[in-house]
Amino acid sequence: MRSCDDPFIRTLASLATDRREFLRRFALFGVAAIGGRPFPRTRLLRRFSDNPFTLGVASGDPLHDGVVLWTRLAVDPLAAGGGLPPESVRVAWEIAHDERFTRIARRGEVTARPASAHALHVEVDGLEPDRVYWYRFHAGGEVSVIGRTRTAPSADVPLDEFAFAFASCQNYEQGFFTALRHLSEEDIRLVVHLGDYIYENGAAEGRPRRHPPNEIRTLEDYRHRHALYRLDGDLQAAHAAAPWIVTWDDHEVDNNYAADRDERDTPRDEFLLRRAASYQAYREHLPLRNAATPRGPDLRLYRRFRFGPLLEINVLDGRQYRTDQPCGDGRQRRCEAAYDERATMLGATQEQWLLDGLAASTRRWNMLANQVPLAQIDNEPGDPASFSMDRWDGYVAARRRLLGFLGQQAARAPHNPVVITGDIHSNWVGELRTDFDDVRSPVVGVEFIGTSLSSGGDGSDMSDFGNRALAANPHLRFFNNQRGYVRCVVSPRHWRADYRVLDYVSRPGSPVATRASFVIENGRPGVTSV
Ligand code: FE
Ligand code: CA
Repeated sequence: MRSCDDPFIRTLASLATDRREFLRRFALFGVAAIGGRPFPRTRLLRRFSDNPFTLGVASGDPLHDGVVLWTRLAVDPLAAGGGLPPESVRVAWEIAHDERFTRIARRGEVTARPASAHALHVEVDGLEPDRVYWYRFHAGGEVSVIGRTRTAPSADVPLDEFAFAFASCQNYEQGFFTALRHLSEEDIRLVVHLGDYIYENGAAEGRPRRHPPNEIRTLEDYRHRHALYRLDGDLQAAHAAAPWIVTWDDHEVDNNYAADRDERDTPRDEFLLRRAASYQAYREHLPLRNAATPRGPDLRLYRRFRFGPLLEINVLDGRQYRTDQPCGDGRQRRCEAAYDERATMLGATQEQWLLDGLAASTRRWNMLANQVPLAQIDNEPGDPASFSMDRWDGYVAARRRLLGFLGQQAARAPHNPVVITGDIHSNWVGELRTDFDDVRSPVVGVEFIGTSLSSGGDGSDMSDFGNRALAANPHLRFFNNQRGYVRCVVSPRHWRADYRVLDYVSRPGSPVATRASFVIENGRPGVTSV
C-alpha cells in the first residue's frame, strides 16, 4: 500500500494545495496524450510518475459485434475517492487485433467522473464476431495493463466447441485467489461468475488475510471493499484474460438478504439505502453494460447471451425479487411456507422472461447461470431440519414451475437445459427431476454446482455433510469440498464439465488438478462420470 513517503503521494499532496491546477494539468495531459498522435507521450510519464490504473482492466458481456471494456482510475484505491480529486478526467481507450496494438480496431475517449468513482464502462461495437482482441486505456500520460477479450460467435455460423469456466465465492480473508490465477491460464473464451464477488462481513481472527474490521454499509465502504479485492493480482489476471459475465448472490450486499429485507429486520427504507449503495459500487467495479446502471435501489441484472447456434446463457438474479426465506433464514426447519404457491425466487417478471426465452430458444444447449442450488439437498432424510431455506429448497412451488417447464413434452421445451450454480462452497453434480422425492420421476436437466474460489479455506475432498447428502439424495452424483472452479467444454454432441480443485488456499501457490469430469450427451437428460 502507498504511504505518505511515496514520492507520488507527496507530489499529489503538494499539487492538492492547488487542486484546480492539478486538475488542469491532469486533464490537459490526458487530452494532449490522445490528440491524434500515437500515445502515450513518454515525456509526460515522468511528471505523473504513478499509474492511476491500479485496479487493472476488465471486459464483459460479449456480443457478436462488441464487448464492454472496464477500468477505474485510482492512484490510491483504498483512500477516499481513490486518491483522486473530485473532478472529471478524460480517458482514451483502444482495442486492437494484436497485442502490440499495430492494428487498431476501434478507439475513443470517455470521461471518468467522480460520481461513479472514476469507473469506466465503454460499450464497444463494430467488432467482428468470434475474434480475440486486445485493449488498454490511457490517461494523464499513463497507460493501463493490456487486457485480452473475445467477441461472441455469430448466431448462424456453426461452432465446433465453446470452452468457458464458472466460479463463485471469493472471500478475501478466507484464502488466496490462486484459483483465479489458474483460471486465467485456461484455454477458455469466457468466465461466468455466479456471485459472492465480495463479502460484506467484518474482519475475523486467524484468517490468512485481513481487511478492515467493520461490516460494510455505506457507498464508501462498498467501494473500499471492491477496491481491496481488485488490488489482488490473481483477480486482476483473471479479468484481463477473458470477458466475464457476472451475476451476484447475497454477500455483494448482505448475508441472506431477500429483496428489501435483511436478516435483522432493518426498516425497509434503511435497508434499501444500503442496497442502493452496494448495487452502485457493484456496477462501478464490474464490466456491465449501461443497461445495468442502477436506479436508486434497483438494478436490472438478469439478461441473456448467445454463443453461435450452440449455447444460450440466461443470467439470473435470485436476490433482488425473491420473497423472504420461509421459516426464517439459513438452515431452518422444513415448514409449510416452503411450499407456498406465492413464494418466488425470481419474481413474476423475471420468471416469465426466463420461461419465454427458454421456449423461444433454438440453441443446442440452454444454460441458467443461477445463484443458489436448484436441486433438493436433503442431508438427513426424515429430519425436518436438513433443508436450507435460502436455497430453492425454500421455494418449492417456484422450483416445481421451472422444472415442470423444462420437463414438458411440448415443442416449447428447451433443448438440453443445464444449470450452473455457486453459493454453497462445495462441488456437486446433480440430476434435476420433476419430483426429487420420486426416483421414478423424469430427469429433465443437469445441475453443476461449483465450489468457492476461496470461501471456507483449504477444505477437504469429503465432508460429513457431503457424505450424508450423497447417501440421502439419489439424484446427487458427486461431492467434493475443495476450492477451485469448473471448466466446461461445450460441443454439438457433448457438454463436459471438469472440476478443477486446489490443494490449499491458506497460502499462495497451490497447484490445480482436475478432480473429476462429467459429460452430458446431446438429447439425453442425465450425466455420466468420465
Ligand atoms: Fe459464498
Ligand atoms: Ca451466497
